[in-house]
Order: sequence, then structure tokens, then C-alpha cells
Amino acid sequence: MREYRTAYACDMTTMHCGGMIARLYEPETKEQLAELIGSLDSFIVVGGGSNMIFPDGTTDTPVIRLGKGFGAIERDGDTVIAGASASTAGVLGFCARSGLSGLEFLSGIPGTIGGALSMNAGTKDEGIMDALETAEFMDREGAHSVGKGQLSSGYRKGGFPPHAVITGARLRVRRSTPEEVRSKMESYLLKRKGQPGGYSSGSVFRNPPDRSAGFLIEQAGLKGFRIGGAKVSEIHANFIINDGKASAADVRSLVGLIKQRVKEQFGIELQEEVRIVD
Ligand SMILES: Cc1cc2nc3c(=O)[nH]c(=O)nc-3n(C[C@H](O)[C@H](O)[C@H](O)COP(=O)(O)OP(=O)(O)OC[C@H]3O[C@@H](n4cnc5c(N)ncnc54)[C@H](O)[C@@H]3O)c2cc1C
Repeated sequence: MREYRTAYACDMTTMHCGGMIARLYEPETKEQLAELIGSLDSFIVVGGGSNMIFPDGTTDTPVIRLGKGFGAIERDGDTVIAGASASTAGVLGFCARSGLSGLEFLSGIPGTIGGALSMNAGTKDEGIMDALETAEFMDREGAHSVGKGQLSSGYRKGGFPPHAVITGARLRVRRSTPEEVRSKMESYLLKRKGQPGGYSSGSVFRNPPDRSAGFLIEQAGLKGFRIGGAKVSEIHANFIINDGKASAADVRSLVGLIKQRVKEQFGIELQEEVRIVD
């Protein structure tokens, strides 16, 4: 297991901001993970960091990032078994090569399978939990294998227990052809063509029931609004873009201001989709 005494949140997250992580652990096996969890009072799990923002100062709470030992991808009949540290792109590449359909909606979503399960990542119509047969996770009590029905998943919420470290999942797929799978992936990627580029965490806020967070932010007149190096995207108002110089404090202040303005104008309390670590 690797242990880093100086890791930087800005290098571990797609928003590219945040300060030092005092202790970063990268277990490679379930045994190492079990021992690690047992030895820590509390911890934070990070996957690809595409939905997380760490503070500018030092994060003293130990951070766990699963190593490559948790990154295997294989097929078993009409399922794909993926380790939690496998990237969603890696799983999609595997599905495309093997002609396995059903996960194409994840195309273009950065990060890992562990992060995707934790967030129930997907589109407005589908989330990865819809394809879940079983998920494996570990906590202080040991290793668990659960079906979707045992988890309280929902919109952008996998529903895992708070201190669970997801280690992998078995995802349902259908036999198809590499050509068809690739063509479906391309159609999902096409829909993302208009999304903003640059450093971001994707959508910052969950959509309130029957409303679009981006539309509300735009109607509040905040498109292009900036605090320090953090700016509300001109292209998609639910994205905050780091111009390369934003501190985590800039991003947090902008998140707070957006919430305040939307609340004042529409009486709606926006909820963060992105996980902002204290
Ligand atoms: C440009 C861009 C576009 C995006 N588009 C979409 C989209 O269309 N749909 C969508 O749903 N999301 C989208 N996202 C958000 C993000 O990519 C997804 O939520 C992604 O699934 C997060 O995966 P990650 O590995 O990066 O997780 P992280 O950001 O590292 O973590 C996210 C959460 O999951 C937890 N977590 C991570 N790994 C584990 C684990 N092994 N066990 C337990 N908990 C864990 C973390 O503690 C944290 O709470 C986008 C992000 C970007 C930057």
C-alpha cells in the first residue's frame, strides 16, 4: 500500500483547486483496505475527484484512494464486473470492444466506477444504479455484497452507508455488437458537445424537482459572474469554471452566492451535487 505524506488536492480533482492532503493512502487489496479502515477513526474516500472540492488549507482527515489493484474489469455472462478504481472510460472501452450494451449513457462522465456508484452518476433519465446487479463495499464490520434493493439509491445518490468504501460492482449488460455500442456512445458524447470545457466538477447543483438548476441560476442573472478565479460558465450556468487561479474559497463563495440569489429570487433552496469537503 502506498502512503503519501504530501499530496495536493488540486492534482487529484478536476476542479484543480484545494490545498494539501496530509495523509493519502492507496490500498491495493481488500486485506490492506480492511486493515486501513480498522486503524482510522475517520476518513474521506476519493475516486477520480471529478465531483469533489477540498479546502485550500491542509486536510488532516486521512484520504483513501483505491489503487490499481481495485481496477480489474471482466465479463461474466451478461454482466460486467468492475473494480471501483476502474475508470468509467475504461469500463466503456471494455464494453465497446466486447460488444456489450447498457452502460453507454455513462459516456463522457469522468471518474471511477466507485465514484459513479456513490453518486449514481448518469443522465437525467438513467443512473448507473439502474444497471446494478450487486455492489461490493467494505466498512469497519467487514466486506459486504448488496443488491440494488438493499440500498436507498435515488437521483445522484447511490445510497451506500456513510462510511462504506465501495470496492466494485457487477453491472448488467446486453449482448450487442462493438459497432452498435460505439455508435450509441457517440450519440451520448454528441449531446455533451455543448458542455463547457476547462477545470470544473460538472454540474454543481442537483436539479430541484421539475426544475433545472442551470436555468434558475441563469434567470438569477449569474451567468458569467465571477469571484476570484471561479466563474459561472457562460455556456451552462450550473457549471463553475476555474480559470486556473481559483482557490477552493473562491469556488465555495460562488456556490454560497448562487444559493443565496436563487433562494431570494425563486424561494428555492439549491442543493450541492458536488461534494465540498470542510
Ligand atoms: C466535465 C464533467 C462532466 C460531468 N458530467 C456528469 C454527468 O453527466 N452525470 C453525472 O452524474 N455526473 C457528472 N459529472 C460528475 C462526476 O464526474 C461524477 O459524479 C462521477 O461519477 C464521480 O466519480 P469520481 O470517481 O470522480 O468521484 P469523486 O469525485 O472522487 O467522488 C465523488 C463522491 O463519491 C465518493 N466516492 C468515490 N469513490 C468512492 C468509493 N470507492 N467508495 C465510496 N465512496 C466513493 C466520494 O467520497 C465523493 O463523495 C461530471 C463531472 C465533470 C468534471
